[in-house]
Amino acid sequence: MIRPLDLISAKRDGREHSEEDLYDFASSVASGAIPDYQAAAWLMAAFVNGLTPRETTALTLAVRDSGDVLAWGDGPPVADKHSTGGVGDKVSLILAPLAARAGLRVPMISGRSLGHTGGTLDKLESIPGMRVVLGLERFVDLVERNGVAMSGQTDRLAPADGKLYALRDATATVPSIPLICASILGKKLAEGVGTLVLDVKEGRGAFLRGEAASRELARMLVETARGCGVKASALITSMDVPLGRMAGNALEVSESIEVLGGGGPGDVRDLTLDLASLMLALADPGRFPDRASARTLCAGYLDDGSALARFETMVEAQGGDLDAFRSLPPAPVRLDVACDRSGLWCGVDALRLGEVIRALGGGRYRMEDPVDPSVGWEGTTIPGTRVNAGEVVGVLHAAGVPEARDASREIVAAFLWDSPAGPVVRGIV
Ligand code: URA
Repeated sequence: MIRPLDLISAKRDGREHSEEDLYDFASSVASGAIPDYQAAAWLMAAFVNGLTPRETTALTLAVRDSGDVLAWGDGPPVADKHSTGGVGDKVSLILAPLAARAGLRVPMISGRSLGHTGGTLDKLESIPGMRVVLGLERFVDLVERNGVAMSGQTDRLAPADGKLYALRDATATVPSIPLICASILGKKLAEGVGTLVLDVKEGRGAFLRGEAASRELARMLVETARGCGVKASALITSMDVPLGRMAGNALEVSESIEVLGGGGPGDVRDLTLDLASLMLALADPGRFPDRASARTLCAGYLDDGSALARFETMVEAQGGDLDAFRSLPPAPVRLDVACDRSGLWCGVDALRLGEVIRALGGGRYRMEDPVDPSVGWEGTTIPGTRVNAGEVVGVLHAAGVPEARDASREIVAAFLWDSPAGPVVRGIV
């Protein structure tokens, strides 16, 4: 095994690592054999000097193999989707049961809210009783039975990433595209998927600043996943304004249920169908020779209620009670938010809205912060509508009046004017 000092100096001097060295590094990080200060020094060297495509693939596989890798028996193709995160992005809640209804196995390991972006697990937990921390055996069993289960990360899946991510967070080395790739894909590939569809956000509320960085991330994610033997494709999608009308945990579950039942806002439905059809055509080209036929089938499953039925089965299997969810009281305060001027109203800046929801308690500043499921934003006007000053365009859901007033001021300042957001899907890799 290479000595940590030699590994650090090799990367400091811009030399390429071997696959074996990166494997040893990831397993030593997972076992604790490398002290944090040496792992952190290597991360900074990798941040500054970058990783080659070969190294990125090797690190991804090494992170994947640092823990258990789920193994699937004979049966339908196994596929998943990952989004780089956004505001109002509830697509996973709809797409996972929809793809299962269309005949795939979907083992979806998801995350919690991060920064200004929402987290699938926090959304699901707004359903009373819903368990999102499943043991791996139970998780696999539910996927085999229902075609879908959604759970949080466990210590057994890609443990090297847990440690490396915490060190990156503490050493300003998060925004490195190769390190992001190995982190995202190492976890997703530990699910044992054969197909992965990625939704890489660009725009105001995206995780990376600048369109060039988002496109580079999309390209590298797809190439690295393919290099690891997984069928992969990415949509590059706009996150200038939130997706759909609702942003906030329980509000987004309600909107997901609407879309699963054939209704809901067109942008959420369309993006879900775009990603689902891409996933099906990649995973099962025999059944779905083109995306158009897969899209028509999936639209039918939304409209006939069968995708919603699959969601209900999944929720029930994980202890959730949708009747109790439907009768949850709304947030104590609902405040109408009106425009302060007339003109072409083009929605709310996604980043600033995400920060407002976080401040209202809908997200977290530290991992241990509790999340208030009831708070959020309910848009009542479609972006791109001409409005008059004083017209109400949305409703803030908050725990109290003072915070609702503060949030309302922030949101009015974050309104976008006179420049419609354009299409959600901006590109494909
Ligand atoms: N999400 C991840 O899982 N890893 C990263 O490095 C960044 C975002």
